[in-house]
Amino acid sequence: MTAASTAIVIGGGIAGPVTAAALQKAGIAAAVYEAYPAPSDGIGGDLALAPNGMRALGIIDADAAVRAIALPITGQTMSVNGRDIGVLPALHDIEPMQMVARGDLHRVLHDRAVEAGVVFHYGKRLVDVEQTVSGVLARFADGTTATADVLIGADGVRSTVRTLIDPDAPQAGYTGLLGFQGSAELATELDPGIMTFAFGRRAYYLYWKTADGRVTWGANLPSKRYLSLTEARAIPTDEWLAVLRDTYADDNPGGELARGTTEATLQVTGAIHIMPPVPHWHRGRMVLVGDAVHAPSNSTGQGASLAIESAIQLARCLRDLPDPASAFAAYEGLRRERVEKITRRGARTNSTKTPGPIARRFMQAFMPLMFKAMNFEKVMGPEQRYTIDWSEPVTGRHATVG
Ligand SMILES: Cc1cc2nc3c(=O)[nH]c(=O)nc-3n(C[C@H](O)[C@H](O)[C@H](O)COP(=O)(O)OP(=O)(O)OC[C@H]3O[C@@H](n4cnc5c(N)ncnc54)[C@H](O)[C@@H]3O)c2cc1C
Repeated sequence: MTAASTAIVIGGGIAGPVTAAALQKAGIAAAVYEAYPAPSDGIGGDLALAPNGMRALGIIDADAAVRAIALPITGQTMSVNGRDIGVLPALHDIEPMQMVARGDLHRVLHDRAVEAGVVFHYGKRLVDVEQTVSGVLARFADGTTATADVLIGADGVRSTVRTLIDPDAPQAGYTGLLGFQGSAELATELDPGIMTFAFGRRAYYLYWKTADGRVTWGANLPSKRYLSLTEARAIPTDEWLAVLRDTYADDNPGGELARGTTEATLQVTGAIHIMPPVPHWHRGRMVLVGDAVHAPSNSTGQGASLAIESAIQLARCLRDLPDPASAFAAYEGLRRERVEKITRRGARTNSTKTPGPIARRFMQAFMPLMFKAMNFEKVMGPEQRYTIDWSEPVTGRHATVG
């Protein structure tokens, strides 16, 4: 017997539709409630799905559809002050990272979830939850309500459900960086599928060539001032473009990328967050999944992939354990150590994104040697080879955290 027959999933981003589709596969009827009035309109830039995330998507049969809209990233290089310092080590016997437009990914996951039987409700901003012995009642900002056996908070890094579970829950931390994405023509020839991580004189950025021959780049702009997505988008795009052109002016090819980006191709993605450890992942019939409980920051390239893994593991636990309390404890036991370890790696990477002149010279001199000496299998193998066996039953022993 499953721990629940019905589930309310709050949030229609990445974790929400995957959790709902996996719950349907587990025999639990799931409905998604999303605050936005309609499915994503394609804004929000691109993101890379790691091999572990792609493998987890295979469990809900969404991997092929994602591959069909993705650009495989077949290699990664690093540059400091515009000087190439070498190819990053990689695991060669697994699928490459798959770069997708966020809006396209949302559409694929939505369509897959609908095929699995999930019902989506838009314009439903969760504001409160009442729990009873036998179920939950969700209240939305438009005055409507919904009931189910359990409620799953897949409502992102500024989660409402997190605070409903624990009013003292930590809020997302700010990395001190604002995210942007642009697109430009570049005179220099680039190999398609190669992503470059570039440490510029004043800020970090990354870039790769797309199928249309243009170059997409992501900027991480240092900013002491925190700006939410809404606040950042309230500032006119031409003002942001001027700031980016100034910041990357002396960088190669950063300067050319910033100058070639127009207002029409600039996407403002707002503050980049990192979640500190969340003491309470669940309470009663409510539980968290995805960025709401473990946003490792964009530096890891794992946020979406971890959200997908957690979604699948949560559905397995609800499928196999007799009640929400034991299912949520087992889920936390399966996930906490892994996601917190990857988040710590993200924090370390974030702290190196704005090196001073001496640190940049050190990186130029020693990074190639460090790449050669690095045991990449030991560092990245456990992250990228993580595999979930959907058919293996979850038992109460998984409830041990750590
Ligand atoms: C600049 C940037 C680059 C990134 N690059 C990568 C990358 O390359 N690879 C990677 O793996 N990850 C990347 N990430 C991280 C990745 O975007 C997140 O980890 C991922 O989106 C988490 O998915 P989620 O479903 O948990 O949350 P979200 O995608 O944030 O979805 C949450 C959803 O909940 C909805 N919602 C919020 N509150 C409510 C409410 N009260 N009621 C109803 N609905 C609500 C929101 O509208 C939203 O649709 C990047 C992030 C940023 C900012």
